[in-house]
Amino acid sequence: MSVRALVAGAGGFIGSHMVRYLTERGYWVRGADVKPPEFDESPGDEVDICDLRDLNDCANVTRDIDEVYQLAADMGGIGYISSYRAHVARNNVLINAHMLEAAARRNVGRYFYSSSACIYPMYRQRAVDVEPLREEDAYPAEPEEGYGWEKLFSEKMCQYFAEEGKLETRIARFHNVYGPLGTFEGGREKAPAAICRKVALAEDGDEIEVWGDGRQTRSFLYIDDCVDGIYRLTQSSYREPLNLGSDELISVDGLVDLVSSIAGKMLTKKHDTTKPQGVRGRNSDNRRLAMTLGWEPSTPLKEGLEPTYRWIASVAGRRGERELASMRPGG
Ligand code: NAD
Repeated sequence: MSVRALVAGAGGFIGSHMVRYLTERGYWVRGADVKPPEFDESPGDEVDICDLRDLNDCANVTRDIDEVYQLAADMGGIGYISSYRAHVARNNVLINAHMLEAAARRNVGRYFYSSSACIYPMYRQRAVDVEPLREEDAYPAEPEEGYGWEKLFSEKMCQYFAEEGKLETRIARFHNVYGPLGTFEGGREKAPAAICRKVALAEDGDEIEVWGDGRQTRSFLYIDDCVDGIYRLTQSSYREPLNLGSDELISVDGLVDLVSSIAGKMLTKKHDTTKPQGVRGRNSDNRRLAMTLGWEPSTPLKEGLEPTYRWIASVAGRRGERELASMRPGG
């Protein structure tokens, strides 16, 4: 008989890829979310539209489930999470507390939790040429306000459930995941998707807006590596939080140049330093990941950005044409 998985947050970016990944491995998959997947057409075996802040909904979606992949969260890019701290912290702590409780009561075999690099202390991320973040750098804590504090607390909740024998939990700290099928407009999109959209909509020779001075640095994890890493960690015996990121560091300006070269466009950057830009520098130290799983993310940034850019350019282009058509008389 197939293993039965619940993907919570299946209507979102990583969740929708996770559903496909598990389905391809012969799993029976239930997807749960407040909304259906925006882009993906492989929704799994069952789709449950529900509110995972509610314990009853969590109890309902965890019935007869062997493995939970908890990817539901109220989240977005730096603009969103720094503007709605109360909302984000409250919604996410409810989702995580109730999902853990429901999964433990249902005797679920494995529980994966999606934490974030936003749990790492601000004081370790004040330079562009930062030391890559190691798992043990999390304490003394000074995470991102709101979103990061909640993630750190929910990591702890997962660990307590495991220590008390209630649930086998696994925790990954994602570092900036990107790829096709991710949100790229509307205010919740993250830097790679926003930059791909801006480049796609610009004409050759145009100027595009870049948040911050462009020298801030990040590393970016391709979605295929992300879902592979989630699966490998969930099947492993490792109970502590583990980085899941790339260690290929690049500045935001460098990212813009890379996307522009993929698009074959020459663009000028207009930096807006009044916009939120998050920490100054952030990179992932993958030594523990490689040692624990015998595996590391392997997609170079350029290789992952090519399909991401082409997908965003084609969807943004189609939407643009529809908008133009609706503005025409009789359109
Ligand atoms: P996403 O926003 O695309 O997906 C999250 C999904 O959760 C959405 O479809 C949303 O509708 C759903 N959701 C929100 N509130 C809900 C509720 N009350 N009930 C049911 N569903 C609800 O985000 P994503 O990029 O796929 O992120 C998945 C997980 O990974 C999240 O926990 C996020 O915090 C974490 N993460 C993501 C990144 C990244 O770069 N994408 C980085 C670090 C951590």
